[in-house]
Amino acid sequence: MARLANVLEKLGVRRGDRVATFAWNNERHLELYFAIPCMGAVLHTLNLRLPADQLTYIVAHADDHVLFVDPTLLPAIEKLAPQFKSVKHYVVMSDKVPEGTTLKPVYAYEELLANASPDYPWPHLDENEAAAMCYTSGTTGHPKGVVYSHRSIYLHSLGLGLIDSLGIAEHDVFLPVVPMFHVLAWGTPFATVMLGTTIVFPGPHLQPRDLAELIQAEKVTMTAGVPTLWLGLLALLDKERYDLSSLRGLIVGGAAAPQSMIEGFEKKHGLKVIHAWGMTETSPLGTVSRLKSYQELWSDERRFALRAKQGISVPGIEIRAVDESGREIPWDGKAFGELQVRGPWVISSYYHDDRSAESFMDGWFRTGDVVTIDDEGFVQIVDRTKDLVKSGGEWISSQELENVIMAHPKVLEAAVIAVPHPKWQERPLACVVPKPDFKDNLTKAEIYDHLRTRFDKMYLPDDIVFVEALPKTSVGKFDKKVLRAQYKDYQLPEA
Ligand code: ADP
Repeated sequence: MARLANVLEKLGVRRGDRVATFAWNNERHLELYFAIPCMGAVLHTLNLRLPADQLTYIVAHADDHVLFVDPTLLPAIEKLAPQFKSVKHYVVMSDKVPEGTTLKPVYAYEELLANASPDYPWPHLDENEAAAMCYTSGTTGHPKGVVYSHRSIYLHSLGLGLIDSLGIAEHDVFLPVVPMFHVLAWGTPFATVMLGTTIVFPGPHLQPRDLAELIQAEKVTMTAGVPTLWLGLLALLDKERYDLSSLRGLIVGGAAAPQSMIEGFEKKHGLKVIHAWGMTETSPLGTVSRLKSYQELWSDERRFALRAKQGISVPGIEIRAVDESGREIPWDGKAFGELQVRGPWVISSYYHDDRSAESFMDGWFRTGDVVTIDDEGFVQIVDRTKDLVKSGGEWISSQELENVIMAHPKVLEAAVIAVPHPKWQERPLACVVPKPDFKDNLTKAEIYDHLRTRFDKMYLPDDIVFVEALPKTSVGKFDKKVLRAQYKDYQLPEA
């Protein structure tokens, strides 16, 4: 790490300067996670799946000075480099500079390290200095910058270690599947190093079979990622045998974990799912759905329903939900409002962005998630504000419908979107991916029958379309923006 700090200094990086990474989850990336902030600079992880115009905007907005890139991702950066005006040096994270690269000036990571001094006079930093930054994947307008301080990262790491939170510990073997370019892999690289946990990196190999093999071979005890990934793993485990008995926690966040998935892992495979909620703006840990001691005694049905909620706030995080008139809603599990949060690892403004004002209210961060909170303090996300289906005067939760559809044994994935309707303004349309074995053997009627057991007629989707795959965002969530665009002129049967 000291060698790396010397390298950064030689490349002209000074206190507070931004240093970008464009890389998968691997050990060199981890070295950068520590060397950059500890020498006083700011680690800026670039989301390698963002479109070119957003990456160009982000690099310029952050004013990145040096960019570290994985050799496998070189072609993407070579294409963009002419637009990266602020970047003075490129470092390829490899032994040698690959032949024929067009980047300039460019160096090889290991060659720089080999020639650097192993001693570095680490500076004494203020805890409130910037340590790292990420950009949110902007759904409208440019992405917004989120900066984390040394203090916020340290306190967030303590939060990740709490036994009633994620409970990561020294004896764990942790596999971060969530990318290190997405909310700093949910802060887990910092927490695991702080706690002395063994880390296993997947590199770019993120298919269900790759993950099952890796968990089995390395005896992984904890892992973390978005639901789409675990839905794939569950479908694989239902068909093929792997020994994943080392696993004590499968952390799911970033989007709602369907109850059927939580039950599927636990009842069929003895694997425990830990459902958590968070955002880039909250570092991301906000709430975790762990049962309290007396809740453990509840019926199966109640326990699993509770675990499919997003959970209670982690110590340090305060929550409230506010209705349209700005009044706090009661914690009765019924009323809903926008979730607002505050705490030592929640940001209080976006980085150099005049859109900040819209997102904060009396010191609280407005999440844009519509929730209920029950009398046990469990938050349940009804929907993202922009995903709610506004039908007549009623709001229909797309997430609730999706979760129930995904509980159908023949369904792999489902996303529900609002489609314009002449009378009701919007009505739900369900896009469904059948499991491979049921590709030609799943009917709309079967899904409607299944939905009718849970929903009144007015909540049922007006139509169901079967698709081969759903579009995913840069971090693997269902991309409803793309779906909405695809189906904006869709003619609903009775419309
Ligand atoms: P983006 O998805 O916009 O790139 P984030 O990763 O910060 O940015 O996503 C945060 C959002 O993801 C939350 O506001 C919420 O809508 C959604 N989310 C995160 N965790 C969960 C969860 N457990 N259940 C439902 N939604 C979740």
